[in-house]
Amino acid sequence: MSNYLFDTLLLNHLNDKRTFLILSDGSTWSYFKILALSGQMASSLDAFGVKPGDRVAVQVEKSPEALALYFACIRVGAVFLPLNTAYTVVELQYFINDASPSVVVCDGRNRQEVSSILERSGTTLLTLNADGSGELIQASRSETVDFETANRSPDDLAAILYTSGTTGRSKGAMLSHANLLSNAQTLAEYWCFNENDVLLHALPIFHTHGLFVATNVSLVANGSMIFLPRFNTKEIIRLLPFATTMMGVPTFYTRLLECKDFTHELVAHMRLFISGSAPLLAETHAAFKTRTGHRILERYGMTETNMNTSNPYDDERRSGTVGFPLPGVDIQICDPETNTELPQGEIGVIQVRGPNVFEGYWGMPEKTAEEFTDQGFFITGDLGLMDSDGYVNIVGRSKDLIISGGFNVYPKEIETEINAIDGVLESAVVGLPHTDFGEGVAAMVVLQSGSELCEENLLAALDGRLARFKQPKRILFIDQLPRNAMGKVQKNILRKEYETLFNEKQA
Ligand code: AMP
Repeated sequence: MSNYLFDTLLLNHLNDKRTFLILSDGSTWSYFKILALSGQMASSLDAFGVKPGDRVAVQVEKSPEALALYFACIRVGAVFLPLNTAYTVVELQYFINDASPSVVVCDGRNRQEVSSILERSGTTLLTLNADGSGELIQASRSETVDFETANRSPDDLAAILYTSGTTGRSKGAMLSHANLLSNAQTLAEYWCFNENDVLLHALPIFHTHGLFVATNVSLVANGSMIFLPRFNTKEIIRLLPFATTMMGVPTFYTRLLECKDFTHELVAHMRLFISGSAPLLAETHAAFKTRTGHRILERYGMTETNMNTSNPYDDERRSGTVGFPLPGVDIQICDPETNTELPQGEIGVIQVRGPNVFEGYWGMPEKTAEEFTDQGFFITGDLGLMDSDGYVNIVGRSKDLIISGGFNVYPKEIETEINAIDGVLESAVVGLPHTDFGEGVAAMVVLQSGSELCEENLLAALDGRLARFKQPKRILFIDQLPRNAMGKVQKNILRKEYETLFNEKQA
C-alpha cells in the first residue's frame, strides 16, 4: 500500500511521542495522540461508507480534533473539503450541491439547519464541536487506531478548497497529494524549518495559509505548533516567549505594533516572522524592523497554487515585494491580452507553473481551460512586475485595475501615496462607474485617530505627486476598511456600496 501524502507527512509520526500541538491552556497533543485519533476517525469514516475519492465537507471550529479529521481524510483517501466557518447555511448549500460530499461534518449548533439542506441527498451528517466533542468523536472512540491506509498516488486529489468568490461563483480548487507535498517540502527547506521550531499558529484552518502552509511545513520539519483558536493580541503576546516562528496575515503584525507590550525583548529569541495572504505595507515592514529588529519575510501564494514566491531567508527581504519564485516554480509576467511575456520591469499578469499548481476547478473543465495557457502556465489574475534583481512586486488584482478615460490606473500606486501622508492610517482605491471616464478613481481613507485631515487637504497633498488622471476624483473617509478572515480588503464591497458616487443623478 502506498499513500503519497501519508507516507511522507504522517507515517513516521505514528509512534512519535514528541509534542505536536500546545494549546492555550498549556495542555499538549503528541504526534502519537493526534495520529491515533486520526486512525480512529479514518476507521469511522470508512464505516460510514467513505471511499477513496469521496469528498468530506467540513465546517467546524479550529481544534486539534479538526486537524485530526484532515489527517483522517488523507488516510481514508478522501478529498478534504474545509469550509469557512462564517458561511451561512444558504451558502453551504451551494458547496454541498457542487461537490456532493458523502459526509458533511458540522458544529453541533448548526446540525438542525444543515440537516435540512441534506434531506434526500444520501449524505451522512456528523457533528464535531469546538471542544472536540460530537458524533464523529463518539463514533470514532470505539474504532481501531490501526487503520489500513488507502492507496493514493501523487496525482490523486487530497483536498478541494473553494476560492473566496468575490467576483462570481466560488470555484473548488482541486489540490493533489503532489501539489501539497511538493510545496510543503520546498517551504520547509527554504525557510529552514527544523524540529526545534515552535510555530505560533493563530490562523484559521479552512484556508491554505493555516491548513497547508503552517501545518504541512511543521509536519515536514518535525516541529510543533502553539495552536490557538483565533488571533488575540494579548494571547499572542503571552505566548510569543514560547515560540520560535510565527506565520500571519498583515493585520496580525499591525495589531501587534499597536500594542506597547510588543517589545524588542519579547521577541529577541524569535527565529522568523512570515507574512502572506494580503499585501504587507512597506511601512509595517519598516516599523516592525525598528521595534523588534526582525525583518518580516513576505511570501505570495493563492488557494489554486499553494505558495509561489518568497523573500529569501538569508538575503535581503525587500519590503513591498514578495521575493523570488520558489525553487521549481516558474513565474512569468505577461501581457493580459496576448499572454506573451513582457520585458523585465513592465507590469502584467503573473502566470505560474510548477508542481504546486492545482489540477483545475472541480466540475468546471471549461473554466479551468480558460485559466491555463498552452504552455501550462496558470493565469493568476494578479498584476505585478519583476524588478531588475528578480524580486516580484504585486500591484493588485487585474479585476481591481482601474481604466479611467482610457488610462490604466494601478490602485496600489495611489494607495502608497495616500498612506504616506501624515495622519492617514490606510486606504483603498477603487474604480467606480463614471459617465465621462468609464471609471473614476475614488479613494476610501481611514484616518489615524485625532487626525483632522479633510478631502481638500488630501487632494492638495496628492497634486504634483501623481499624474492628474491618477488623482482620485473623490476621497471619502470611513471608519475601517472591510476585510475578510484572511485580512484581505474586500474592494467588491466598497465598489458596491459607492457604485453611484459619480453618477448619482442617473441612479
Ligand atoms: P487566496 O486564494 O485566498 O489565498 O488569495 C490569493 C490572493 O491573495 C492572491 O492571488 C493575491 O492577490 C493575494 N496575496 C496573497 N499573498 C499576497 C502578498 N504577499 N501580497 C499581495 N497579495 C497577496
